[in-house]
Amino acid sequence: MAEPARAPVARAIAILRSALRIAVDTALPPLCPSCREPLGDGAGLCAACWSKLSFIEPPFCARLGIPFTYDPGPGLLSMEAIAAPPAYDRARAAVRYDDIARALVHAFKYSDRLDLAPMMGRWMTRAGRELLAEADALLPVPLHWRRLWSRRFNQSAALAGAISGACGVPVLHDALKRVRATVQHVGLSKPQRAENVQGAFKVPPERKADVAGRWLVLIDDVLTSGATVDTCARALRRAGAAHVDVLVFARVVAPVRTPI
Ligand SMILES: [Zn+2]
Repeated sequence: MAEPARAPVARAIAILRSALRIAVDTALPPLCPSCREPLGDGAGLCAACWSKLSFIEPPFCARLGIPFTYDPGPGLLSMEAIAAPPAYDRARAAVRYDDIARALVHAFKYSDRLDLAPMMGRWMTRAGRELLAEADALLPVPLHWRRLWSRRFNQSAALAGAISGACGVPVLHDALKRVRATVQHVGLSKPQRAENVQGAFKVPPERKADVAGRWLVLIDDVLTSGATVDTCARALRRAGAAHVDVLVFARVVAPVRTPI
C-alpha cells in the first residue's frame, strides 16, 4: 500500500532533479554550435570545426565578393556582377555558407547564442576592412516588429554592434524601417525572393538627413540571393545615400566561379 503514497514524492524528486539539471547545464561551459563538444573559455567554435570553416579570401569579384578560382588581376568583376549589377556598390562576406556556417548562424539566431556575436563580428570586421575604412555608419538590416518580438533580438543589429566595437564606425539604428512583413525566404526562388521584399524597406522622412550623402554599410547574417540587401540599398539610395556597401557573415557561393 506504500506505492500510491510514494508517487507524489517520486514526482517531486523528478521535478527537483530536472531543476538541478537545468542549474548544472547553465553552469557548464557553452557547447560548440556545430558538433556540440564543450568549449573552452571565450571560444565560439571548437578547434576542429574552426579549421573546417571556409573563410573567403582574395581573389574575389570586386563588386559582389564572390571568390574566384584563380586571380584575374585587381578590380575584375564576376559574370553575375556584369549581367545583373546589384543596387549596392560592394558586398563582402567572412565565410562561405556551408554546414558549419549554417550551424553557427542557427545557434546565434534561434538558440539565443548571443555570445557568438563578438567572434562573428571580428571575422566580419576583417572581411570588410576595405569597406569599413571608408564608411560613415553601419546599418543593420531591420526585422519586422512582429518577428523581432518573437525572436527577441535582431541578429543583424547584434552583429553591427560587435563590428562597431571592433572598428569604431557608429551604428545608425532605425534609419531603415521594415514597413511590410515578408515571408521567410527558405524554399523561394530568386524571382520570388525579389518580389517578396519589394517595397518592404523605407527610410522614415525624419531620418533622411542621417542617410543623405553618406557612405553606409548594410549588415546582415547571411546573403543568399541578395534580394533583401538589394531592396535595402534601393531604399537608402532613394533617401540620398552616396554609397551603399554590404557586409554579411556568410554568403552562398556556387561551387565553381570563372572570372571573365
Ligand atoms: Zn565543433
